[in-house]
Amino acid sequence: MNNLDNIINGLKESGIEFLENEPLSLYTSIKIGGKCDIIIFPKDEDELLFIAGLLKKNSNGYIIMGLGTNTLFRDERINTPVISFKKGFWDIKEINPSEEKEVNSKIGLSVGSGVALSQILNYAVKNCLSGCEFFFGIPGTLGGAVKMNAGSKECMMGNIVENIEIITKEGTKLNTYKKDLQFSYRNLDIKGAGEGYFITRATLSLVRLDKSKILENINVFKERKLMQPLGEYSLGCIFKNPADNFAGKIIEEIGFKGFSNGDAVVSDKHANFIINKGGASAKDILELIKNIQQTALLQKGVELSMEIKIV
Ligand SMILES: Cc1cc2nc3c(=O)[nH]c(=O)nc-3n(C[C@H](O)[C@H](O)[C@H](O)COP(=O)(O)OP(=O)(O)OC[C@H]3O[C@@H](n4cnc5c(N)ncnc54)[C@H](O)[C@@H]3O)c2cc1C
Repeated sequence: MNNLDNIINGLKESGIEFLENEPLSLYTSIKIGGKCDIIIFPKDEDELLFIAGLLKKNSNGYIIMGLGTNTLFRDERINTPVISFKKGFWDIKEINPSEEKEVNSKIGLSVGSGVALSQILNYAVKNCLSGCEFFFGIPGTLGGAVKMNAGSKECMMGNIVENIEIITKEGTKLNTYKKDLQFSYRNLDIKGAGEGYFITRATLSLVRLDKSKILENINVFKERKLMQPLGEYSLGCIFKNPADNFAGKIIEEIGFKGFSNGDAVVSDKHANFIINKGGASAKDILELIKNIQQTALLQKGVELSMEIKIV
């Protein structure tokens, strides 16, 4: 059982920021989600270690979130404590910044898990670092992107992550290296870390390159993103692409492009995106998802599995 009073007292005594009764719709890119009992905003490792200890004693679970750009919260109240990386873990530093200034030299960039991918990309362009151009148009935190192995078929986090610092559910700090990291399609498991680990920072392996070349590379991703409904409330791609096919193409072929269930609408720009036109609930989105899955199975014999996380 959660002991909310103990959690609140512990947080108050230690001065850690939290809110009670918050609508999670305020914290996700699709603007959907019921109220939670408590959302906690650690700013650094010390605060997170304290929170891990507090939760271990007083809660039988927790939900971790970055910017909620890949997470659909249900409409019902959420009693499980939510830990948000929205307000901390914001630093970016080059490892050995004074060395290796020549073009093509390898540079390690150590980044806090709360930093938005767009900020990392800005830093990389400014400092002539190549390797993360594919971050363009992916709206999440570093922690969320690492956990989701975000990117595309050709470029994904697993290709550039060298090591990851975590705090385990038990409250132990661990530095994990490539040999421990099992990246797969939109997932990461870390050997020996168990479930529920918090990613606190990661080192990205980048390469020094001419700025003009980096901007050229970014243009390739800009072009691709023109095909996505970027300004709308969404969670990006809803389904994983089946082997040798595209979920968006299948959804279009079975006639769902532009189809709606209340304010939940299949984008007419990219059929693997479901948009909240303003008043959609999680229930509307989930009904639409189920309808698409059943029709794809019936008409095409294809099982569409979820890319997004449902809480
Ligand atoms: C318009 C749009 C375009 C998108 N395009 C792409 C794309 O091209 N490629 C792609 O892969 N994705 C894409 N996405 C999906 C999404 O942006 C990425 O998956 C992103 O990396 C998620 O980051 P987040 O911080 O929002 O994670 P959240 O949605 O908050 O969390 C995602 C998962 O990561 C876990 N998590 C988050 N932070 C941490 C942490 N610090 N420690 C441990 N676990 C953590 C959460 O528990 C959850 O399971 C897109 C989304 C949108 C809305």
